[in-house]
Amino acid sequence: LYLDQPLEEGREIPATPGQAHHLGGVLRRGPGDAVLVFNGRDGEWAASIATLRKDRCTLLPERPIRPQEPPPDTRLLVAAVKRDAMDWMAEKATELGIGSIRPVVTRRSITDRVNQARLAAIAQEAAEQCGRLTVPAVAPAMPLHAVLDGWDGTPLLAGDERRESPPLAQVAQGLRAPWAWLVGPEGGFERAELDDLRRRAFVSTVSLGPRILRAETAAVAGLAVLQALAGD
Ligand code: SAM
Repeated sequence: LYLDQPLEEGREIPATPGQAHHLGGVLRRGPGDAVLVFNGRDGEWAASIATLRKDRCTLLPERPIRPQEPPPDTRLLVAAVKRDAMDWMAEKATELGIGSIRPVVTRRSITDRVNQARLAAIAQEAAEQCGRLTVPAVAPAMPLHAVLDGWDGTPLLAGDERRESPPLAQVAQGLRAPWAWLVGPEGGFERAELDDLRRRAFVSTVSLGPRILRAETAAVAGLAVLQALAGD
């Protein structure tokens, strides 16, 4: 369970109502039962349930069992897509170990409205479920050109479905984190956007094969390749 508090032996920490419901109502746990907790800073701790009544619960950290892992320096930039696809992408990207997620607004974006808090909550739940000790940061949506203008030079791989780019697996050979993976909107990047991307020295446009993937599929497929070849 993710707790947003310092973890210290014997210091009782309240869980959120949602976590309390999950522990009591779904997992049927009760006072005295063991749980694992983390906060993204102090590693993983064995803890026990101190109190649990309906949606109120406190947890008691007992001993550290796994040192903190550094946050992965890998980023997903993705044009905002429909809510369900966005949710799915945030969950899968977290399972695949992404360090941060930033929705970007491109010329053919269908929306610039992204519920950042909802995505952050999904990322937190996915981090709890998959046993990582960091929760990806979810950044506010930003226009793609502004992201590119303020970029720090980290290699940025951009998915191009037009069969004009080398395979991602080839470009990612020898790459090590930090890196970023960029996926366009349902309508794809406009020609001018692709040209602008290619003008930037830190960008490589890459292909995931001859078929046109949905944006969420491209996001997750690209991350799987990058995680396998250049993971953090
Ligand atoms: N405009 C396209 C069309 O309708 O022909 C579709 C764009 S696709 C649904 C959305 C995004 O996914 C693209 O901008 C690209 O970043 C990524 N993508 C999809 N298929 C890809 C592929 N085969 N290789 C690399 N990227 C891909």
